[in-house]
Amino acid sequence: MHIVTAPRSVAQAILHGLRRRCPNCGEGQVFNKYIKVNHTCDHCGLELHHQRADDAPPYFTMFIVLHVVISGLVALEQAYSPAMWVQLALWLPISLVFALWLLPRVKGALIGIQWARQMHGFGGDFT
Ligand SMILES: [Zn+2]
Repeated sequence: MHIVTAPRSVAQAILHGLRRRCPNCGEGQVFNKYIKVNHTCDHCGLELHHQRADDAPPYFTMFIVLHVVISGLVALEQAYSPAMWVQLALWLPISLVFALWLLPRVKGALIGIQWARQMHGFGGDFT
């Protein structure tokens, strides 16, 4: 197997991943369903099955969403002190939609980092 040693831009790979695109070419789709990773890139042929995102995407997604939601909840509480049902009616749907929107983007970014850092077989040292 050919071992790729050319430097890969982590920032570029993250940006491609945030767009749910292949970290190598930025054109092919990384996912064929919501967060199911394609075996290979349909544009450049990069083998994407090497990714080992595992539990990191939901962890970072929850970390980001909860920071935003808790900040908003506290700010709203301090400014207007709305009823509890208003807080729940507002922040629960926002949390759900934001998390579902963010999860594939975070997973794409993490796959991009793995590819750029040649982790888990992306460097070509094992399959
Ligand atoms: Zn590609």
